[in-house]
Amino acid sequence: MLEGPLVIAIDGPAGAGKSAAARLLAQRLGLPYVDTGAMYRAVALLAWEEGIALPPDETAKARLVLLARHLPVRFAGTPENPKVFLGARDVTSALRREEVSRAASVVSAVPEVREELVKLQRALGRHGAVVEGRDIGTVVFPNAQVKFFLTARPEVRAQRRRDELAKQGQSADLDAIIGEIRERDLRDSTRAVAPLRPAPDAVVVDTSDLTLEEVVEELYRRTQKRLGG
Ligand code: C5P
Repeated sequence: MLEGPLVIAIDGPAGAGKSAAARLLAQRLGLPYVDTGAMYRAVALLAWEEGIALPPDETAKARLVLLARHLPVRFAGTPENPKVFLGARDVTSALRREEVSRAASVVSAVPEVREELVKLQRALGRHGAVVEGRDIGTVVFPNAQVKFFLTARPEVRAQRRRDELAKQGQSADLDAIIGEIRERDLRDSTRAVAPLRPAPDAVVVDTSDLTLEEVVEELYRRTQKRLGG
């Protein structure tokens, strides 16, 4: 029997289809959903608005740590229409802006920021949750009962990113997105702290040729199997 509250870790690169699948899986299992990428994005957004220099010098680092320590982040909405709030402010679309994505990747390479956000993530997931990110199965919840690592081919991931941007009324060049994705993957997988890699006990799922429903079904099925149900 597996002990403790059920934590499901979902890691993988940008555009692998983690968010939508994680939200639907959480809903199906009746668990809260924790989007850790949104937390790094939120720190990046606030840093951007406060004019904090990135990459940060020592003074800027100290300010970033304070932002992370007191981050008033809250997840709301539905899987179809998810919302992220900072205090009373709806930052859902601001967090998806391309400059925020870039800044989030820089901010997330600062170990002191990670330390603060990992504390927050553990607190949010302590009664059980589906937690999505890059280092959930390796660092944040190394004892999670179920771990997934979602991947997809870079062209597929870029296409998904473009569709997502299009939904928000933004257009983008596919090659440019592929370039951004490769650059971000490299930064995320080569950084010294919590690099992006599958946990040894993670189930790797390539979502390139699967629909969202098929991905959720696969995650659900494997979760049931893992729990012996
Ligand atoms: O998943 P999402 O694209 O929203 O993540 C934004 C950025 O936050 C990523 O590029 C990654 O650098 C960082 N991140 C991280 N660790 C996590 C989640 C996200 O470093 N657990």
